[in-house]
Amino acid sequence: MNSRFLVTSFLINALFGQTPEMAKVIYQKALSSNEAYQTLNELTMNVGHRISGSENFTKAMAWGVATMKAKGLVNVRTEKVMSPRWVRGKESIQLISPRPMNLTMLGLGMSVGTPQEGLTGEVVIVDDFDHLEKLGEQVRGKIVLFDVPFVTYDRSVTYRSSGPSRAAQYGAIACLIRSAGSSNSNTPHTGTLSYDSRWPKIPAAALSLEHAILLRRMSESNQKIIIKLNMEAKQLSDVEEGNVIGEIIGSKNPKEIIVLSGHLDSWDVGQGAQDDGAGCIIALEAASLLNQMKIVPERTIRVVLFANEENGVAGGRSYRERHESELNNHIALLESDSGNGRITGFTLDLPGRPPRQRGVNPYGDKSLKGDPSLIERFQSLAKFQEISGAKAFTLGMSGVDVSPMVEAGAVGIGASHNMSKYFDVHHTEADTFDKIIKADLQHNVGSVAILAYTLSFSSTRLQ
Ligand SMILES: [Zn+2]
Repeated sequence: MNSRFLVTSFLINALFGQTPEMAKVIYQKALSSNEAYQTLNELTMNVGHRISGSENFTKAMAWGVATMKAKGLVNVRTEKVMSPRWVRGKESIQLISPRPMNLTMLGLGMSVGTPQEGLTGEVVIVDDFDHLEKLGEQVRGKIVLFDVPFVTYDRSVTYRSSGPSRAAQYGAIACLIRSAGSSNSNTPHTGTLSYDSRWPKIPAAALSLEHAILLRRMSESNQKIIIKLNMEAKQLSDVEEGNVIGEIIGSKNPKEIIVLSGHLDSWDVGQGAQDDGAGCIIALEAASLLNQMKIVPERTIRVVLFANEENGVAGGRSYRERHESELNNHIALLESDSGNGRITGFTLDLPGRPPRQRGVNPYGDKSLKGDPSLIERFQSLAKFQEISGAKAFTLGMSGVDVSPMVEAGAVGIGASHNMSKYFDVHHTEADTFDKIIKADLQHNVGSVAILAYTLSFSSTRLQ
C-alpha cells in the first residue's frame, strides 16, 4: 500500500467527512488495484465451477473463508445451508435419422436421467407453447424440441423452466430446448428446470443453437428426425454446506447492517467466472478496499457469499430464517449477479411494491412519478457516484439470493450491469476467467465500494 495515499485518504476523511470527494478517493483506489482481478483469477483457476453439493463447492467455501480472513474481515464464518445435490453424470444425444451424428447438448439442471440404455424417439419441432397446445396429443410418445429463438432471457427461460412439464402433459417422453442464450459458438446453456408435480418427470436438455437450427432445417424439408438421448442425471440426498460470511464492524451503529453479496455456487460447467464469481469478488473486494483504506463505516458491512442460488435458493432462504429477528436492522442487501459488465447504476427493490414475478420487472417503466421522497433518496445516493458514472438509480429487482429478505420487509439493491455480452456465456462451458475485463471489474468494485460507503452513514435512509 502507498502510505502517502493512505495519509491523504485519512486527511480527506478527517477534513471532508462523508463527501463525494471521499467517494472519488475510493473509486481511484479501486481503479489502481489489481486485487479483485487476482482474487477472481484464484477462485476460477484453483476451484473452477462449483455446483451445490459438490466437492468443488466445499473447496469454494474454504477458499472464501481463507480469503476473507486474509483480507482482514472479522467474524468470518459459514452459516449452515442444506443444499440439494444434483449430479449430471455422462450425457449425449445421437442423431440417428436422417443421418448419424453427435449433437451438442447440455442436460438441464435438476433433470431426471434416461433409462440406462437411453431413450430413442422421434423429434417434433415446437415453436412455442401455443404451438404445443395445437399439436396436443400429436406429441405423445415423442421428443419435443422447443425451438424458440433467443430474444430475451426472460422469454427463453420460460421454456427451460416449464417446457419439460408442459411437454410431459401431452405425453412427450423427453424435452429439448434451443439453448436459452445468445451464444453462436456451439456452447449450449444449462440452468434449472422446474417440474410440475401433476405430470411425469421427463429428461430434458438444451441443444446448441446450431444443432437446434439443424434439426429445424431437416424438419422443414420433411425429413423424419430420430434421436437417442442418454443422460445419467440424478438427484442425491441434500448436503450440508453454508453461506460464507465476513464483516467490517460499524463504528457508530454496529447493529445496523449493509449486506454486500453474490452467490458462490455456479453451474457445473465453465468456471463460474461471470455467474457469479464476479459478483462474489465485487462484494468481497468492495469491503476489502474500504478496509485497506482504513475507512471505518458507521454501520456494519457484511459480505455474504450465498450457497445454492442456481438450483434452489437454499442459501437465501437459510439466511432469512437465521437472521429473521435482525432483518429490521438490515439497511439494505445488495447483490451483484449479472456478470462483470460495467455497472451503470443500481436498482432499489423496496418491500411493499408490487409482488415479484420471477423474470418480469414488476415496476414496469420504473417511473418515480408522484414519489418525491423517493427521488430525493435516489439523488442522495447518486451524487456520490458522479466519479464512477454508476448513477442510474431506479426501482427494480435486486437479486435472487436477497429476495427472501425483501419479501420479509428488507430493502434489496441490485447492481445494474451492462449485460450485452452476458448471455453469450451465462451457464455455459464458456463462462471462464479469460473473458473478464479487468478495467470493468475495477470499476464495478469501485462503484459498489462507494455505495457501501454511502449506505454506511447513519444518516442514510432507504425506507
Ligand atoms: Zn447467478
